[in-house]
Amino acid sequence: MNSSSALYKLLPSVDRVLQSPVLSPLISRVGHESVKLATRSYLESLREKISQADAKTLKLLDSDTLLPEICLGVQVMVNKEFASSLVPVFNLTGTVVHTNLGRARLPENAVKAMAVAARSSTNLEFDLVSGKRGDRDAHLERSLCAITGAEAATVVNNNAAAVLLVLNTLAQNREVLISRGELVEIGGAFRIPDVMQSANCILKEIGTTNRTHLRDYESNVNADTGLIMKVHTSNYEIRGFTNSVTAAELSKLATEKNIPFVSDLGSGTLVDLTQFGLPHEPTVMETLKAGADIVSFSGDKLLGGPQAGIIVGKRELIEQLKNNPLKRALRVDKITLAALLEVINLYKDPQRLTTRLPLLADLTRPLADIEKAAERACVELAKALAGRATVTVQACRSQIGSGALPLELLQSRAVEITPVASKGQTDATLNQLAASFRSLPTPVIGRISDGKLLFDMRCLADEAGFIQQLQNLC
Ligand SMILES: *Cc1c(COP(=O)(O)O)cnc(C)c1O
Repeated sequence: MNSSSALYKLLPSVDRVLQSPVLSPLISRVGHESVKLATRSYLESLREKISQADAKTLKLLDSDTLLPEICLGVQVMVNKEFASSLVPVFNLTGTVVHTNLGRARLPENAVKAMAVAARSSTNLEFDLVSGKRGDRDAHLERSLCAITGAEAATVVNNNAAAVLLVLNTLAQNREVLISRGELVEIGGAFRIPDVMQSANCILKEIGTTNRTHLRDYESNVNADTGLIMKVHTSNYEIRGFTNSVTAAELSKLATEKNIPFVSDLGSGTLVDLTQFGLPHEPTVMETLKAGADIVSFSGDKLLGGPQAGIIVGKRELIEQLKNNPLKRALRVDKITLAALLEVINLYKDPQRLTTRLPLLADLTRPLADIEKAAERACVELAKALAGRATVTVQACRSQIGSGALPLELLQSRAVEITPVASKGQTDATLNQLAASFRSLPTPVIGRISDGKLLFDMRCLADEAGFIQQLQNLC
């Protein structure tokens, strides 16, 4: 057996490794520097192992394959470093608009428009007619106003930013009246009271959790009132002995008192979803018609577009928003704008929305279609998991997610996987199984319920890709 000092001598120099022809494609892809650093660190780890007399390493050093082994190790290290940590996944959770999984999948025309905008200079803020500085909101404003009937529109980074901008612009250092029943928290720490504080507004809670009346608002309007706000209680419902004040009533009061009435719709939608057999969700148009001076909603919830916060309403108020220095910090880039333009355009042809917009395609996917997909997947999953689990097709319910229609569940079908586990090991076996699906080339995310792993097939668009990668399951 070699002494360790002799073993150290067997190790090639960094330069020698870098000169190996097998590494040259890697070097041309990622550059000399990264491969050099990885080689140095790999050789360092070998030296470490020699000092600890690691038996496996010692055997490796005796062989003729030392240099190829090192090159392989370096390749693995560099590839890992350069692999994106942001990867596509299969969302089989049953939550269609899943915030943690990136919300809406964009339609192909929007994806193309993003690439075009990314690749080139654009007239983002440049008026091609006058040759002077333009307004980035102008690109969307016409379409948004045409569809919603609003006088003006602007777009920011997300709806949280929209609410912040509206409050800060229209009610800084003033009181904002809002019902106690509407002090919502949305996932990811968006809480109305906190946003009020960040916007430098004074929250004035109105009424009680379950019942708020118009007279409660009336008696609280005073010289310090900045605006009246209504927030769509998107992720919960107060049931039983309840009362809330409608947008129309609040708008009337706000007009009388000469203060703005603002509505945060959260999800918001530009079409009446009942025409697609979906539950009703307040539309932007209805809210404007009811008299809201400003309406804000998300670009990537029910709208099915990119992350954005859309604000529509009275021209005079929108102008004030645009002139707030915060707007500069919250504005969207040309890539978001390019995608949003395409998505908004799809709304000009509502009949074809369910085929052209992935989100609405998912939400309206016929049950029979989901069931067939579940049956096909069931056969393949049973093969892939033979001996490890039993696989069946079960009725389940999908939810829209991201706070839209929380209590309305859509009938769907799931593949239900029950692991064969020894007594007392059920949870561990189940978690292990879920983890192996998550470690597939395109990770599969389901949900665990009642000792079973469920894959809701509603949002499975690439069925062939899903089935094909099951052979990698370990
Ligand atoms: C989701 C939601 C928000 C935040 O919107 P993002 O686009 O996620 O920033 C604000 N208000 C309500 C009522 C919501 O449902």
